Amino acid sequence: MPLEIVTIPCRSDNYAFLLREPTTGEIGLIDAPEAAPIRAALKQRGWELHKIFVTHHHDDHIAGVEELSDSFGAQVIGAQADTHRLPPLDHAVAEGETVRLGDETGHVIDVSGHTVGHIAFHFPDSGAVFTADSLMALGCGRVFEGTPEMMWGSLSKLKALPRETIVCSGHEYTQSNAKFALTIEPENSDLISRAEAVAAARAEGRATVPSSLAEELATNPFLRADLPEVKSLLGMADQPDAAVFAEIRRRKDNF
Ligand code: ZN
Ligand code: FE
Repeated sequence: MPLEIVTIPCRSDNYAFLLREPTTGEIGLIDAPEAAPIRAALKQRGWELHKIFVTHHHDDHIAGVEELSDSFGAQVIGAQADTHRLPPLDHAVAEGETVRLGDETGHVIDVSGHTVGHIAFHFPDSGAVFTADSLMALGCGRVFEGTPEMMWGSLSKLKALPRETIVCSGHEYTQSNAKFALTIEPENSDLISRAEAVAAARAEGRATVPSSLAEELATNPFLRADLPEVKSLLGMADQPDAAVFAEIRRRKDNF
């Protein structure tokens, strides 16, 4: 049985996710931007908290980790590479290793670029990947610590997951991402209709996260840097994929 996934808005535009593994009732959390809304979501459902999975070291993803792990006795799992700048970890992991939530296995994917040491958690049996500030709805994280080549490599790993995978990313940036995406591919009909749906959802205060990998592949310009039609729109027909990605990222940084 698939994980039950609850999306929890935090701070101004962050998302945390609660996961309940139905066979064992074990509860996990992806990122802790702040404790209060996560505590409220747990209380409302009568849930405890057993494991906290951390994606990367930025404060808007870890600020609530220690408070929640202390009050629930939850284990904290995060990247081996970032032990020096994450809250104390009970379990340090690296790419290729697995994590457990009850009967479910999650696979750790290194998605460095936004930070070096950013990881994603992929739960194949539930068809869900938790990407935080790597792959985002209609966008990707700004490349702060890594290189565009590194970020493109990370996105390429996520691109290769099954198309039906649900992408649970870390921020509600989708509407502004859509405006930018339309500057790259103004005639992409899937993008035009998604941008309209996103605007309608936001007008009603609804979340646009999670999304599906299939819709990201069809509309997210950062995942489409390897496509001949996108390269030629940018006048980069003979350029390598990573260079085209870097140009799209550069334009977004200045958007
Ligand atoms: Zn971040
Ligand atoms: Fe963030």
